[in-house]
Amino acid sequence: MKKIVFASANAHKIEEVSHKLGGLPLLGLKDIDCNDDIPETASTLEGNAILKARYVWERYKLPVFADDTGLEITALNNEPGVYSARYAGDQKDSAANRKLVLDKLQNEVFRAARFRTVICYIQDGQEFLFEGIVEGHILREERGTQGFGYDSIFIPNDNSRTFAQMSIDEKSILSHRAKALEKFKRFLDK
Ligand code: IMP
Repeated sequence: MKKIVFASANAHKIEEVSHKLGGLPLLGLKDIDCNDDIPETASTLEGNAILKARYVWERYKLPVFADDTGLEITALNNEPGVYSARYAGDQKDSAANRKLVLDKLQNEVFRAARFRTVICYIQDGQEFLFEGIVEGHILREERGTQGFGYDSIFIPNDNSRTFAQMSIDEKSILSHRAKALEKFKRFLDK
C-alpha cells in the first residue's frame, strides 16, 4: 500500500498522529516537497479539512488526509469555531484568544462548549470524513499550565480539571483529535 500523506508541515504533530494511528508511517508535506501555505479559507471545519486534503490530492495523486479543529461555544453561536487560531487577530496569539473568549462570556452563565476535530481522507479521489467531539464548558478564569490554545479555560464533562491540568497522556485519551483519529484508524484497519 502507498504511504499516506498527512497534510501538515509540523513534524511533531505528524509524529503524534502516526503514533495514534498505531505507528502507521506517514509522509508530511515536506516529504513530498510541498512547501506551499495551503489556503484555509472555508467557513467550516469540514470545508477547511476538505480544502487541504484536495489541495494535495489534486497535485500529487497520493492518498492524503487533513484535519481541522475548533472550539465551539454554544452561547457565542459556536464561535470561535473555524477561526479558533486567529480569534483575536491574525497574529494567532493564544493568550489573546483566551482573553477574548473570557471577556465575551463575562456575563454569561450558560458556558457549554466543545472541541471538534474533522478529518478528511481522500483515497483514489473518494472523500471520507471523520469527526471527534469533546463536550465541556468554559471556566471563568485560566487554570493549569500544560497544553496549548484554549486548554486552560476548557473543562471536559465529568472532569474537575482543565485540559491544561492534565498530562499529555491523560488529554490524549479524552481528546477530540484522538476520537477522530480512532474512527479514521478503524476505517483504515477494515
Ligand atoms: P488546528 O486545526 O489543529 O490547527 O487548531 C486550530 C486552533 O484550535 C489552534 O490554533 C488552537 O487555538 C485551537 N485548538 C485546537 N486543538 C486544541 C486543543 O487540543 N486544545 C486547545 N486548543 C486547541
